[in-house]
Amino acid sequence: CPLPTPEEFTRVLQEAYLRYKDLNEGKNADYIPALAKVDPSLFGIAIVTVKGDVYEVGQSQHPFAIESISKLFVLSRVMNQLGADELEKRVGVEPSGMPFNSVLAVELIPNHTANPFVNAGAMATTGLVRGGTQDERWAEILGTMEAFANRSLPVDQEVYRSESETNSHNKGIAQLLLSYGRMQGDVLGAVDLYTRQCSVSISARDLAVMGATLANEGVNPLSSKRVVARENIPHILAVMMMNGLYDASGGWAFRVGLPGKSGVGGGLVAVVPNRYAIAAFSPPLDAYGNSVRGQRAIEYIASTLGANVFIGT
Ligand code: GLN
Repeated sequence: CPLPTPEEFTRVLQEAYLRYKDLNEGKNADYIPALAKVDPSLFGIAIVTVKGDVYEVGQSQHPFAIESISKLFVLSRVMNQLGADELEKRVGVEPSGMPFNSVLAVELIPNHTANPFVNAGAMATTGLVRGGTQDERWAEILGTMEAFANRSLPVDQEVYRSESETNSHNKGIAQLLLSYGRMQGDVLGAVDLYTRQCSVSISARDLAVMGATLANEGVNPLSSKRVVARENIPHILAVMMMNGLYDASGGWAFRVGLPGKSGVGGGLVAVVPNRYAIAAFSPPLDAYGNSVRGQRAIEYIASTLGANVFIGT
């Protein structure tokens, strides 16, 4: 089945933008002070195909904090390192059904880490990144995100500072994981790397390129460089489908039928395997921590273009 034409992509992006730009529901994340003050009217959407064609509308090049979407790229890095079986053993893949930063989940879920997209599993995953020093591990993490985006990505120092000053909850989760033997070594060092990875600044356009790398079986369609082992792609997309929008992942899969990943900075990406990725940015979030306009826009685009993976092409 051929890709939609450039005219179709352009039209559906315009329609989605106009339909939802005035939707004023939700509110910015406020538990991270630097995110609370981002202009809530910002709204951008981008689509990048496996051929490397880019379509965009609105503030698609406006920088925002990647936040939890970084978990997707660190997962890809660590799965490349360890393989899917080992990742499943060391971190887990089961949905927690609880909020992304739930301490209850750490206590109640048998393996304590649940999956790589809740904070517990994400920090454990970051703790598995290879490297002899913090700097080496950070270079691996940032280098991976940059290979996905095909450009160098800055850390938003204000977000990093703001999160570092307010991340005692994440430190608590990491200490609990240490007590359960689910994290080892310098766990607070891993929390710092995790906080830094969340503060990387990207745009909706970057995010669509990053998603398109997953759509394109792990090869970045702009650089033609392999970023993820091909055999890991279905595992990564499955984790996205089950856990990508936290405890709202079930509803998302039910309505949209695409592997997705959100972040509390207002970013959201959905992958249409072997075809394209759709990314959106809009800061106001619903009660689960997912971008309100982002979800609506991607749902509209996916249904208009017939992208649901459970329908097929
Ligand atoms: N840095 C944020 C946190 O750990 C990321 C969470 C998110 O985007 N859901 O709380």
